[in-house]
Amino acid sequence: MKRIAVLTSGGDGPGLNPCIRAVTRMALHLGAEVLGVRRGYEGLIAGDAVELDRRSVGGIMGRGGTFLGATRCPEFYENKGRKEALRALNRLGAEGLVVIGGNGSLTGALEMHRMGFPVVGVPATIDNDVTGTDIAIGVDTVLNTILDAVDRIKDTAASHARAFLIETMGRNSGYLALVSGLAGGAELVLIPEVETSLEAVAATVESAYVRGKSHCIIIVAEGWKPGTRALVDYLAERREELGFAVRLTVLGYIQRGGKPSAFDRRLATHLGAAAAEALTNGERGVMVGWIGNRLALTPLEEAVAFQKEIDLELCELAAIMER
Ligand code: ADP
Repeated sequence: MKRIAVLTSGGDGPGLNPCIRAVTRMALHLGAEVLGVRRGYEGLIAGDAVELDRRSVGGIMGRGGTFLGATRCPEFYENKGRKEALRALNRLGAEGLVVIGGNGSLTGALEMHRMGFPVVGVPATIDNDVTGTDIAIGVDTVLNTILDAVDRIKDTAASHARAFLIETMGRNSGYLALVSGLAGGAELVLIPEVETSLEAVAATVESAYVRGKSHCIIIVAEGWKPGTRALVDYLAERREELGFAVRLTVLGYIQRGGKPSAFDRRLATHLGAAAAEALTNGERGVMVGWIGNRLALTPLEEAVAFQKEIDLELCELAAIMER
């Protein structure tokens, strides 16, 4: 393979730059030229790419986000858009493509594979909902960012005897909330995968107050129903019964930025390098993942077939620690 293209797509997160760097340096090492496609699938359709050499990916290891840009591209859901992308790849002389992104981006990659173009995917999503990898690029850094916020909020919560709701990202996945709750010492975690009534949340807050706790921290995944706002209103109406006054912090886009952690830099380097290697070795339509601390290849078809399920043992452990 003489020339490959690489792009980042979908929701951004820490670790994308180290991954682009690893794809580039391994491909060059194996004798292939590398094109960096700007703005994800949108840039691919437009043929917007720049040649990457060793130096152009230097000094980006510690930078969050993606220097290539990542967009959401509605045209790519249509066959017409994907055909234009294929045409652009041929025009650019690319013989293979590495797609770095989440479930949606990897589904787009699968479509390209089905059209006969050599594609390898790399899971990068803070939602950690991709099958075929224990952890996706970005997740570890985001967990550290959330924990930093939880520790800060705990300080103020304890000073004022308050209950705090902290909303985390993750779309339909409760992974970030669950693990940050476990590692942050939260009193309760609310995730889409586990049903919890408003009454049960109120009972937890009241019980924390009665037991003499100085604060009550509840981590809420953005996908939890009936939702953080409904919960705030419900608890506010019951302020007197609960003991604690309730405050809400939505962490929002702060979670997407920041320097990638040591783990994410290493993971991104392993997966990016392996993706370039797999592509030049003739692997097609696969995703490079990390299972049991080792590289693992999974057909894209399987990787995107369903959202990775939450670990129930982790839920049980978190529940025991909350008491
Ligand atoms: P993520 O990759 O983080 O899950 P999205 O779900 O927004 O993010 O997907 C990113 C992009 O991938 C979309 O804007 C679209 O261009 C492409 N994509 C997503 N789903 C599909 C699909 N089913 N078919 C083709 N392309 C898709």
